[in-house]
Amino acid sequence: MEKQARHRPHREYSDAKRLILEPDIESCPICGQALKARRNWHSRKTIQTLNGPLFVAGKTKECVNLTCRNYQKRYYAGRVWLYSLPGSTYGLDVLAWIGWQHEHEHRQMVEIQRLLNQRGVAVNERNVGKLYRQFLALLSATSENARGSLEQTAREYGGLIWAVDALQPEGPCGLLYVLYEVLSGKPVAALQGERIDQSDLENWLRPYQTLQLPVLATLSDGERTLAAAFKTCWPEAPHQRCQVHFLNNLAEEVLDYEDELRQNIRQNLGGLPKVPTEQRPETDPPFSTKPTPTEIPS
Ligand SMILES: [Zn+2]
Repeated sequence: MEKQARHRPHREYSDAKRLILEPDIESCPICGQALKARRNWHSRKTIQTLNGPLFVAGKTKECVNLTCRNYQKRYYAGRVWLYSLPGSTYGLDVLAWIGWQHEHEHRQMVEIQRLLNQRGVAVNERNVGKLYRQFLALLSATSENARGSLEQTAREYGGLIWAVDALQPEGPCGLLYVLYEVLSGKPVAALQGERIDQSDLENWLRPYQTLQLPVLATLSDGERTLAAAFKTCWPEAPHQRCQVHFLNNLAEEVLDYEDELRQNIRQNLGGLPKVPTEQRPETDPPFSTKPTPTEIPS
């Protein structure tokens, strides 16, 4: 009997923009020593977004302090999940857009599918329904469901680090807030709306406050209402405006230029003659003849 192919259709996106994200924290929450970057990415995938294909990868860091009880414990770039949920090949913006079109614009799935196809997102009707349900699950996530893994994380690290990031998908689609826990690198809940104020954010965060788990810190970008909501829910926890978010926000702006630059470099330098291999006189200082591995991923 012929075996049915169960895997997803393989899609090639050679023109995908690239986004490489750093972990949210720089030092070990247990010993305080600076974390060391690992060579391997913990997640790498190409996703379909409303703005075209995007290659998104997250870097990993680890504690290298031999005397720390979390020696070799790894920390991930949890912000990857703001772009796309674990296991998904679609951008979270696509899910948020589907949710908005169905709930607020009252469009049927088949119509949403057609509109997505028009925007260059390859998806069938069945998958539109599936993405919609995934989005609903994120919106209706309860603190009770998350309790077990949050308790586990708090035991391992002595507490939690909460982070919220906002996503503004294309078009009239409201704003999407995503709550994630930094140390476990997991998305926990989402909130979507057009005009979300401080009390909406507090009501959304409150179930996690009532879990009564120790909170080491809270992180967000520069948005004032969000920082205030964190302060209301966890007044003792230091709030940090996340440097990584800030840098990433800047990086997103230059992504277009970076791609252009990469192409220009290839075009302009591709035809250069090779470096001559002529021997240098003995009097020259010694130098390594080993080719240096290039840091620019191709
Ligand atoms: Zn440590």
